[in-house]
Amino acid sequence: MAKQSKKQDKKVTKNAKKVRGTCRACGRVVELPNHKGRCECGQGLIARGGRVVRIKETPHGCLEMDAAKTISEPPAKAPEKAKKPVKAKRERKDGKMSGLDAAAQVLTEAGESLDAKTMVERMLASGLWETKGKTPAATIYAAMIREIAKKGDASRFRKAERGKFTVAK
Ligand SMILES: [Zn+2]
Repeated sequence: MAKQSKKQDKKVTKNAKKVRGTCRACGRVVELPNHKGRCECGQGLIARGGRVVRIKETPHGCLEMDAAKTISEPPAKAPEKAKKPVKAKRERKDGKMSGLDAAAQVLTEAGESLDAKTMVERMLASGLWETKGKTPAATIYAAMIREIAKKGDASRFRKAERGKFTVAK
């Protein structure tokens, strides 16, 4: 029974020293045979002073390196932050209306055309709407103009006499 020749398997030479350390490339803890080896991440690694460092420019001989034994997988990446909830629909939990909804309601209740300033005063006084804006009347005015321009006859608002609005009938 011819044993396989004793051609030394360099992986198992008696004097092989194994060095355990952390792969600088991927963070796996690896054990290097003969102070050098190749991590699962593909990096050629070499131990220096007991630390496993990465061979920055993988030398040609790298692929011939013995496989380093993986002791532990790389640390898990930091968990992704919880995804932001899909942008909430425009319904508001506090029961407040959007500026345009409130404007439409105020105009409906008024039964006459109003300018933006008066509408905003009523919207705020009635608690239908809250804003931190400094120029809420300008904001509402612009929003109504936009809705009219965009939706035309489908808009809830109509322009009335100068600077005033009314609701679509
Ligand atoms: Zn690695």
